[in-house]
Amino acid sequence: MTTFEHAMLGVNGALASGLQHRFGWRVAALAGLAAITPDWDGLTILGGMRLFDQAHRAWGHSFAACVLMAVVLVALDIRFDLLGWGRRTLERLLGSKAKLIDPRPEPNPLRCAVWFIVALLAMFSHLAADLVYSGAEGLSDWELKLLWPFSQQGFIHPLVRWGDIGVTLIFVTGMFAMLRWRRRVRWIACVTLGCALVYIGGRGALAVS
Ligand SMILES: [Zn+2]
Repeated sequence: MTTFEHAMLGVNGALASGLQHRFGWRVAALAGLAAITPDWDGLTILGGMRLFDQAHRAWGHSFAACVLMAVVLVALDIRFDLLGWGRRTLERLLGSKAKLIDPRPEPNPLRCAVWFIVALLAMFSHLAADLVYSGAEGLSDWELKLLWPFSQQGFIHPLVRWGDIGVTLIFVTGMFAMLRWRRRVRWIACVTLGCALVYIGGRGALAVS
């Protein structure tokens, strides 16, 4: 999966839960952002191939790293309104004329707890997707070190090749359906996720047979 599909997996998961009815757009944005966060360890390529080999699919792709990243993400949003800043920046870049009147929500224990759980589940969705998406033409499987830093054991269960566009098309279709039927967003998110799961399972079954 690429960054787009990971983000859409997180966003659709949040929308399918219906949490947006209580927490607004921010909960979907948080899930989308959290769902792409584990790939930060790919940036270690800037430090050279040796560091990348050691860090990629370990430093950001373990259960412990996800807990830590979820805490950091929630703290950044609660303290600095990360999501509000991101939306304003995006609107400026896109030249949007509409000024959003969207005051920063008051932090409270319930919001912090929901934010943490949503961020963590979105990151786990990334790990689950990476577990079943692996390898490409001429490339071996990319194992995840889920137990890092306590163990270097690698995990992988390849069902779909990296770069397969089946789920991409499902997410794009779901996105357009949401734009067309805005009142049925939750239902469409559930169907989109269902289709994605059936597709991945089907590809896996075909690969085995
Ligand atoms: Zn990844």
